[in-house]
Amino acid sequence: MEKSFDKVRPKKSLGQHFLHDQNTARKIVESLKVKEGANPVLEIGPGMGVLTQYLVTNDKLNLKLIEIDRDSVKYLHKHYPAMGENIVEGDFLAIELKKVFDSTFAIIGNFPYNISSQIFFKVLEHRDQVDQVVCMLQKEVADRIAEKPGSKTYGILSVLLQAYYTVQYLFKVPPGAFTPPPKVMSAVIRLERNQTVKLGCDEQLFVKVVKQGFNNRRKTLRNALKPLILPAEISSLKLLDKRAEQLSVEEFVHLTQLIESSRGTANTGV
Ligand code: SAH
Repeated sequence: MEKSFDKVRPKKSLGQHFLHDQNTARKIVESLKVKEGANPVLEIGPGMGVLTQYLVTNDKLNLKLIEIDRDSVKYLHKHYPAMGENIVEGDFLAIELKKVFDSTFAIIGNFPYNISSQIFFKVLEHRDQVDQVVCMLQKEVADRIAEKPGSKTYGILSVLLQAYYTVQYLFKVPPGAFTPPPKVMSAVIRLERNQTVKLGCDEQLFVKVVKQGFNNRRKTLRNALKPLILPAEISSLKLLDKRAEQLSVEEFVHLTQLIESSRGTANTGV
């Protein structure tokens, strides 16, 4: 029997919770900062297009969609025929972003919550291309990303993202705004690329230090970083009395610089 594309039946495996609250959808789209000139935008997981419908009315945007679910893609082609090839059927985590846009671009979306951390790790890898992200995700994850040092929810993604992006927590969205309602609260955040091109330290080592530090977040950094085999002069630093969750981005950069120079691989920071 020919399937009807008047509605997509939500699939749990794809994290499909369709937003039905129009005010929230409009507010999310309005949270995207639109620049003078070109505004390439990639919407991740448009589903039945609740955000898309407001995005397409803004002719300042050069909009593309990436959606993994074939039923949703068919639905979108039917309801947004003018989008044509700008509707890409595929997995955001697998696509080559340089092929989607050869310039910088913004990302918007009500993210599939089950892969939101992976989406952010991909954004980080492509931080030279992704200049803004407006997204809805599980409130707990939004809190973590926006959190400042000193809190129990401050973690790896907070440090790594805040190193390159200014994060703004925007608003909460209750489960009742979706069909079917998720079990968790949701929240919308905006990330804007900051001025940092290079951190001024070995960036791979920085990621290692951050990850290792938070792996044992209740331990002092002196103990948590033991697997990195730090030289004695580093181990005696006062900074290592602290726990990872107490360190700002700048302090993590500083610590990485100290480890680097003690290993005799000083980076000039340019
Ligand atoms: N934006 C819609 C749907 C949100 S649900 C709304 O607000 O109603 C999340 C959407 O992401 C679903 O449509 C799901 O099919 C899609 N999705 C899940 N994994 C994806 C992936 N890896 N790449 C692209 N889209 C994905």
